[in-house]
Amino acid sequence: MRFPRLFPFSRSAVIDPLGTYPPPQAKDIILFVTDRCNMRCEHCMFWQRIDDPGPEMTLVQFQQIARTAPALRTVSITGGEPFLRNDLDEIVESFYRENRTHNVQINTNGLLWERMEHLIELDLAAKYEHFLSFQVSIDGLEKNHDRLRQLPGSFRKITNNLKRLVALTKEHPYFRVVVLTNVNKHNYREIDELSHFLWDEIGVQHAFDLVRGVTFSSWGIPQAIIEKGDPRDCDLPPMQELEGILDAIRRINRREGGHFDQFVRQLEVQVGLYLGIPAPFRCLSAGRTAGVIYGDGSVAACEFTKPFAHLADFDYDLDRLWRSRQAELRRNQITGCSCSHTCFVLTSLVEWEEQQNRKEAG
Ligand code: SF4
Ligand code: SF4
Repeated sequence: MRFPRLFPFSRSAVIDPLGTYPPPQAKDIILFVTDRCNMRCEHCMFWQRIDDPGPEMTLVQFQQIARTAPALRTVSITGGEPFLRNDLDEIVESFYRENRTHNVQINTNGLLWERMEHLIELDLAAKYEHFLSFQVSIDGLEKNHDRLRQLPGSFRKITNNLKRLVALTKEHPYFRVVVLTNVNKHNYREIDELSHFLWDEIGVQHAFDLVRGVTFSSWGIPQAIIEKGDPRDCDLPPMQELEGILDAIRRINRREGGHFDQFVRQLEVQVGLYLGIPAPFRCLSAGRTAGVIYGDGSVAACEFTKPFAHLADFDYDLDRLWRSRQAELRRNQITGCSCSHTCFVLTSLVEWEEQQNRKEAG
């Protein structure tokens, strides 16, 4: 039976310009597979865990997560250094096979060539007709990168590996690679030169993020659920430089064909937040369409808030955990905070833009 609309003129009033919370169904997951790392970067938010790695879930547990999650848009496999796990290939395959994940992204420091090459040569993405992408971190020109990452010689090794990865994208059309630079007070003056080098000499696309830490990148998180997470020794560029940095990144994006328009829009929001300009949308994704699974099986709405549940208590059934009372409680606790964390600004921006488009389409 269809009921007449009681308040036909009230419809636009209930469409909040900041965006409407989407139903809680995971679409984008950050998946920590290990805390172990072969680097000790100054800007690492997780340096305490890297220095003292915790327990790791087994392959069977990861497979159960893949089986029970709704089909995901993106799984961002991270750590620590994901390629330190001997069974990474199987974890990746389980997300294609069991979950039909559209894009498996691996955030890597780009050092472990044999393991990276092996995974690409397996051609799992092509087999399942989904995508595999590597996001390789480079944090400045040679001197700065090696100092920030505390590993002499790593810039040369990684850029050499990048050339080989770019060559593999030609043979494996379902494979992509992008460089990510964490912009901070030590490296912001050289991002233009670095981009020229990466684009002209290596032919790799270059994206940017601003260094983050819970104490300087978040606002209004309830004290009881705030998660510690600040870099060991790194900070943002001076505030008065942020708009100039944004302009430089806009120029770089235009020069490279506008591949990262959405990233640029996200950076505009991030810079605005640091300059005291509220985002045009609320955090729509954390705990709703996006979340974090740590290597030990604990689950958080985002990296700036404490885990709210453990997968072991739900037989590693992610969907059941996501619909649990604990998850609902956490969602209710995070309606008043804001932060500049890329993963959640970007996924909220995507959600908000989709809502705006639907609204315009009527
Ligand atoms: S930033 Fe990445 S590569 Fe560097 S120490 Fe942290 S986990 Fe390792
Ligand atoms: S990601 Fe969302 S919930 Fe988490 S701190 Fe940022 S604004 Fe709050």
